[in-house]
Amino acid sequence: IEGRSRYVFFTPDMDLDVRSREETYRELRLALADCDRQLEVHYQPIWSLEKNRMVGVEALLRWQHPEQGLVAPGDFIRSAEETGLITVLGEWVLRRAVQDARAWPDLRVAVNVSPIQLRSRKFVDIVRELLQGGISAERLELELTETALMAASGDVADALADLRQLGVCCALDDFGTGYSSLSHIRDIAVDRIKIDRSFVNAVDTVPGAALVEAIVGLARANGLRLTAEGVETPDQLAFLQRVGCHEVQGYLFSRPVAADAISRMLARPSGG
Ligand code: C2E
Ligand code: CA
Ligand code: CA
Ligand code: CA
Repeated sequence: IEGRSRYVFFTPDMDLDVRSREETYRELRLALADCDRQLEVHYQPIWSLEKNRMVGVEALLRWQHPEQGLVAPGDFIRSAEETGLITVLGEWVLRRAVQDARAWPDLRVAVNVSPIQLRSRKFVDIVRELLQGGISAERLELELTETALMAASGDVADALADLRQLGVCCALDDFGTGYSSLSHIRDIAVDRIKIDRSFVNAVDTVPGAALVEAIVGLARANGLRLTAEGVETPDQLAFLQRVGCHEVQGYLFSRPVAADAISRMLARPSGG
């Protein structure tokens, strides 16, 4: 990949997507070289409905592009995955999140992990190193998508097994958007399910509410913890509380914010 990026020639008939992917790749490499200025990790509070306080945060990458301003991860994670840069980018996020989490001993920190990162043996080594550096395994959570878990053959399966052996928590992100049916819940090797925002959004409809209630019931019956994502309204919150969801996350509580804002929230008497 390295060599390829140095000499890229664009011909007029070249696919626009290809061009912009190369461009993103080049700029992301510059961003990594200038990470103190261009990259930042924001944190979104995760709120426990049992404890009525903030119990964790999800780390979300932010790119302050020198010309384009703030670029959303949705616009560059895919191209970082396609070019392999996600391995370096993901390692940077993980290290930063663990570093920032030192200031919040009572919080769990959840980090998004691309399946491509899991293919590299180095990933488990990095996690092991970070655990030796002081963060306890139960405070670190890795968010994986179904694609990652489904592709859990060979290297990825080994990595997952090693991570769980280390005691790190694994969450299935965006639950419901992939291929797995409800009946798969009992086979999934994770500690937690994150119910996708699209489902939370639909709880004001009869089928939507029934679906979320079924997910919560089945997950609980299988000993899984549940976090609902994208909670925006008091009605959604009341519903999730009633059906027994453990934790919630969404704009109703807070948008993703910079690390120092999390520290300020914790300093408030309400603890969040
Ligand atoms: P995700 O993991 O599903 O993260 C949740 C996304 O939903 C975040 O978008 C968050 O800002 C947004 N969100 C949270 N609460 C609400 C809400 O109440 N309403 C609405 N409309 N949105 C809400 P964000 O930060 O733009 O991230 C988008 C995606 O990019 C993430 O989805 C994740 O898949 C990926 N991503 C972000 N950071 C990383 C990273 O460090 N590594 C990897 N591999 N992927 C990342
Ligand atoms: Ca996530
Ligand atoms: Ca998600
Ligand atoms: Ca998502």
